[in-house]
Amino acid sequence: MQKACKCGGKMMFRLRTVIYQSNVEIENVPIFSCNSCQKSEVFAEVKPELTSLIGKLGSKPDKRQLLFDEYSEIAHLMMRASDKKLLASSLESIIQERINELLDLLLIAKSLDDEAWIADVRGRLSQLAKNHISVNDFS
Ligand SMILES: [Zn+2]
Repeated sequence: MQKACKCGGKMMFRLRTVIYQSNVEIENVPIFSCNSCQKSEVFAEVKPELTSLIGKLGSKPDKRQLLFDEYSEIAHLMMRASDKKLLASSLESIIQERINELLDLLLIAKSLDDEAWIADVRGRLSQLAKNHISVNDFS
């Protein structure tokens, strides 16, 4: 997966650690970065989750490390898709498997009457539904 940079170079897809306010390390953020001018930009589909995560951290966050794939279903799927063991399976089957996992979690959360957990799982499912990821995006 790649796109053209303004400098004429190629921007390649990577998962990268983003440092916020020099205190918080956010790992596994999907970005494009240019091989020629080193410019990088966050993958558009994960911007809403990244913005809301940073909003929750506030302007003076404590030193900590976060895994972005725990907040963003897209980042999670990209990690799975880049896992060599899973290269044989198609992206659709990876997404389908993840949706099944989330539906199982939703049943468990409902049986425990855990409202916060139910809302969290519903949010994850809607991230998968709203982004309409196409298989070509990952090649
Ligand atoms: Zn460039």
